[in-house]
Amino acid sequence: MTETTTLIILGASGDLTERLLLPGLASLLKSDRGVDVKLIGTGRSARSPKEWDDVVKTAFNGDAGSDLAKRTLASSEYIQGDPTDPAHLEKLFEASVGEPVMYFALPPAISTRVIKALEKVKLPEGLRLALEKPFGSDEAEAKQLNQELLKVVPEERIHRTDHFLGRSTVLDIIGLRFANRLFEPVWNSDNIEKVEIFYDEVLGLEGRAQYYDKAGALVDMIQSHLLQILAIIAMEAPASIDAVELRSEIARVLRATWVKDGDPVTSSRRGQYTAGTISGKDVPSYSDEEGVDNERQTETLAEVEFEVKTRRWAGVPFILRSGKGMTKIRKEVLITFKPVPVLPAGLTGATSPDTLRIEISPETLELGVTTNGKGNPLSLEKSVLKTDLGKPELTPYGEVLSGIFHDDPTLSIRGDVAERCWAIVAPVIAAWEADMVPLEKYPAGSSGPAEWKTSQEA
Ligand code: NDP
Repeated sequence: MTETTTLIILGASGDLTERLLLPGLASLLKSDRGVDVKLIGTGRSARSPKEWDDVVKTAFNGDAGSDLAKRTLASSEYIQGDPTDPAHLEKLFEASVGEPVMYFALPPAISTRVIKALEKVKLPEGLRLALEKPFGSDEAEAKQLNQELLKVVPEERIHRTDHFLGRSTVLDIIGLRFANRLFEPVWNSDNIEKVEIFYDEVLGLEGRAQYYDKAGALVDMIQSHLLQILAIIAMEAPASIDAVELRSEIARVLRATWVKDGDPVTSSRRGQYTAGTISGKDVPSYSDEEGVDNERQTETLAEVEFEVKTRRWAGVPFILRSGKGMTKIRKEVLITFKPVPVLPAGLTGATSPDTLRIEISPETLELGVTTNGKGNPLSLEKSVLKTDLGKPELTPYGEVLSGIFHDDPTLSIRGDVAERCWAIVAPVIAAWEADMVPLEKYPAGSSGPAEWKTSQEA
């Protein structure tokens, strides 16, 4: 990597750039992992130098004071043009210094056209490409996209970003599993009853119908982020934390991951929120939101049960759920242990299963274990041991950009894994498209249909 590198953002007038990417860049620039970055934004929309400067300054907000941030602000420019036009891409490369990073903050269909346009352009040395989810819309499309990308740059310079797989989340789970003698010996089907992974949001659609109505909860969260978390929970120990070893273990466990019993009808559920109240605010029914096409029957809540067909996990359900318009934010992995085979006579009390809860952002660990009661030692109780795993130094997009600038694709999704994640959920998508699973309604601000499999919060 040369001293200064260029970040070219395609789709710089969009929501992702302003709300997440630029603040992420600012958090990286002020950290120890910061690098010297020349920033070029581009898009078809016009932006005067002053307007662009204001966008970047606003996004950098309180993080604009570091030397690196000041240099980036001073050299930043917006070059208007169509990113699908090879002549415009050439212009962007001519304005670049060092080995550029091209970040596709674009609707997926446009990204595909840009990749084709790149084939017609003389590319700068060391070019890296960063692509957002969704990566294609099914396994065949993801495969095709991978083939197109490989015509442009080698796999190690392709970053399929997943801002959920932040370094701290992954390392916290790896540390918990493999850096002590307590958990790994019980991390198997002899001891674990079930694994649940939740990503519930209180927010409704918030004006994002254009993207979300085509994706839905299954593609937006389960197919992408939650399967990656499942992989980190279920994988074998990697020989080292690097792009080859860690990603090989992730790929291996996902190759063994399937919809439970191969039956999407009994293993999946979908819901859509109706009008309700969240934190005292009225939320309209999803079907009445602007831009929603009710023919699509898009789900705002999805639950899918998977199985991991390895010796370690035989028979253990992995239930993944994500929803919008829920009563409470719930972003966590909940591991429920099996009951002890037998209790000594004389110990009484209602025992609930031992649990391990790994909360994701903010990261905390909560172990709920059955112990003797405080007042009456013969009467069992649940004791809760809780610890804070600390706040990551960077925002999730700061982490993503750090991996890209430092040529470290460890936490980016490898091409075969992107394809495999589509293959895993394909039976569910097909069953839902064929209307074999009913779209259940739940009021916004509720915790979803009560009879669903995932545990209600204790
Ligand atoms: P937007 O819909 O805001 O689009 C981004 C930009 O793309 C637009 O500002 C527009 O710029 C450009 N664009 C749109 N249509 C075309 C076209 N036909 N030809 C050329 N350029 C076009 O997207 P987001 O910023 O919301 O998201 C970008 C990517 O990031 C998507 O893949 C999304 O799935 C992903 N993502 C988004 C998140 C978010 O919270 N927004 C979160 C996680 C991922 P202009 O008109 O100036 O050319």
